[in-house]
Amino acid sequence: MIALVTGGAGFIGSHLCEMLLEQGHTVRALDNFSTGRRANVAHLINHPKFTLYEGDIRDPETLVTPFQGVEWVFHLAGLADIVPSVENPTTYFEVNVHGTLNVLEFARRNQAKRLVYAASSSSYGIPELYPTPEESPIQPQYPYALTKYMGEELVLHWANVYKMPNLSLRMFNVYGPRSRTTGAYGAVFGVFLAQRLNNKPYTVVGDGQQSRDFTYVTDVCAAFYAAAQSTWVGEAFNVGSGGHQTINRLVELLGGEITYIPKRPGEPDCTFADTRKIHAKLNWQAQVSFEQGVANMLACIDDWRDAPVWEPASIATATASWFKHLGTP
Ligand code: UDP
Repeated sequence: MIALVTGGAGFIGSHLCEMLLEQGHTVRALDNFSTGRRANVAHLINHPKFTLYEGDIRDPETLVTPFQGVEWVFHLAGLADIVPSVENPTTYFEVNVHGTLNVLEFARRNQAKRLVYAASSSSYGIPELYPTPEESPIQPQYPYALTKYMGEELVLHWANVYKMPNLSLRMFNVYGPRSRTTGAYGAVFGVFLAQRLNNKPYTVVGDGQQSRDFTYVTDVCAAFYAAAQSTWVGEAFNVGSGGHQTINRLVELLGGEITYIPKRPGEPDCTFADTRKIHAKLNWQAQVSFEQGVANMLACIDDWRDAPVWEPASIATATASWFKHLGTP
């Protein structure tokens, strides 16, 4: 297959490119390098079946060549993170919603055989039911979650109206090598690994008893692959590990001191995917245990050598607009 991975130089996208190449496919990665990094695909650049395109899903002109003759489209390009989405909602809308519309229209015009969208479990907000099934209410708590869900609605609507072979995967807390090391205050693994490297205490939010459905990146790639190969259309699937782990358990596995920082508004105490649907329909389930995943991260901890080292004071500054906008007045 000729596969296009939008966001191919990002964390998950780069792993997906790697996997598709291993499976013998021709891979085109498209990225605007805003959060994706050339370094993430440096090891693929000389592969005869790999091409890296610099382009932006907001700019149709840059999409013409990468979409030509494409068969599988994996749409992972997008903006993540809570705080910048609260601060720049317009940019999030342009990239995550309008950008997704552009990707859909190019896939449609080029008669792609399959489009798989990277959706987010954050769209469930603070769920009432655990494990959380796909039909749970959608309750986005901030513009990132809202715009990712709007992208999913476009993807599924296009499947209905234009009979496009589209699927959406709602990913739960993906972690693994090459998860972001620079930039804004973000996902817990990058924060904690940099703290560990610098012998700083882990900044545990609240009492650390909150839990997340941490899903290892190669498992997530396998879900994308299973989705591409399936014959289902117009469906959304949860992609989760099958369990959930507390932040205290993560600290226990990493080892080291703790400092506590305030609980944030809009954060669920637990995320935990009901994965029965994806298991039944795509025959997919996660393979990598949390212990194995954390061990893999520790084995490449040097990758976080240049990552920002967060402390309670810098986190308080970085998350000020989070508390301001999402907190109760
Ligand atoms: N977390 C933490 N300390 C940090 C950053 C995050 O204890 O410095 C916790 C956070 O409260 C949440 C979990 O780690 O319970 C996962 O946070 P992340 O931002 O990675 O994902 P999300 O909150 O979007 O699920």
